[in-house]
Amino acid sequence: MRHILCSECTTTNAPYVIQANSLFGCTECPRTIHPRDIDLDGHETWTVSPLGALGYVIDPAHCLTLMAEALDDYMSSSNVYSELTALQDHRDAAMALVTALECGLLLPSQR
Ligand SMILES: [Zn+2]
Repeated sequence: MRHILCSECTTTNAPYVIQANSLFGCTECPRTIHPRDIDLDGHETWTVSPLGALGYVIDPAHCLTLMAEALDDYMSSSNVYSELTALQDHRDAAMALVTALECGLLLPSQR
């Protein structure tokens, strides 16, 4: 999981943590962020670590797609270099999936 950091506290890389009022508050300044204001790219989704820190991961459904694409690439590889690249892509997607699952996100079949 990559933490979402406060843009006002750039020198300390202060993370946001969940508060009792359902907002995320910076650990260094009074700035807060509402979940509806979290703006992420494409297949990223926000989550909260077991310690309450706000972060983002790649959506598990997209991780599975990336893993399947990597396997297809591996099976159609014509040389060792492309095989290794496909295996690395598969490993990266699998690691992203594990991270998302550790953060409590569900597989598409569990939703
Ligand atoms: Zn801050």
